Amino acid sequence: MRQRTTNVTAYGDLTSPEAPAALSGATLVWPVGGLEQHGPHLPLSVDYDIPDALARQLVADVDGVLFPGQPLSARSLPHSGGGLRFPGTVHIDGGTFIDYVAQCLRGLARLAPARLVVVNGHYENEALLFEAIDGLDPARTFPATEIVAFSWWSLVEEDWLRKRLPAFPGWHAEHAGVTETSLMMYLRPEVVRPVRVDHPTPPAAGVYRHPVDADRMSTQGVLTTTSGASGELGEELFWHVMDGVARTLADSPSPGTGRRASE
Ligand SMILES: [Zn+2]
Repeated sequence: MRQRTTNVTAYGDLTSPEAPAALSGATLVWPVGGLEQHGPHLPLSVDYDIPDALARQLVADVDGVLFPGQPLSARSLPHSGGGLRFPGTVHIDGGTFIDYVAQCLRGLARLAPARLVVVNGHYENEALLFEAIDGLDPARTFPATEIVAFSWWSLVEEDWLRKRLPAFPGWHAEHAGVTETSLMMYLRPEVVRPVRVDHPTPPAAGVYRHPVDADRMSTQGVLTTTSGASGELGEELFWHVMDGVARTLADSPSPGTGRRASE
């Protein structure tokens, strides 16, 4: 069994004089999450907790530095997160989110880490996150930094899904479902409540509707099934994603050279 590492070098623990040397040649990892309803069984912090755990493990694996996780996310939508009618969800709008991410990155650019890895845990963040990074013109803003940004579920292989979850509804609807529940049972079992909810009609991908038939869209904020969730599945998925992170980074240009490692 592989052991998780949670104790890593934190960006905020550095002093100002230490920061440039600590970042020089290093990988800086930024988990970006959210505070969003996740049904009656999971805490509001799921979309933060999962990328934070993955980011910590990556920092440990590459001897990097952990940037403080971003706790607030872009707007929750009815067909991919239940929407804002559930209590507890706190969001920032898309334009503000893009500005916020871009300004954080502009500040980090001055330290020129060799590699910046952004790990996203909230479905609706993804396009906005990529727009924020691309909109900075990274070739100019980060001339010596390789940037890799991804949502954790993008690294789950089709084969893995087919074997473990044959009725998988698509990642847009896998909200508070088997994968998030299992990951939380592995990472933070103490905050997972015993109640389980199944929703028989997951929303279609890429379709927005008004008016929303709230009962058809979710059951208590769960868009799909939670049956079959377990800490064992969560552990397997966590390390499957970590293997995907290693593969993704190995397939990147060598830090600082702008060339592919395989070239
Ligand atoms: Zn989530």
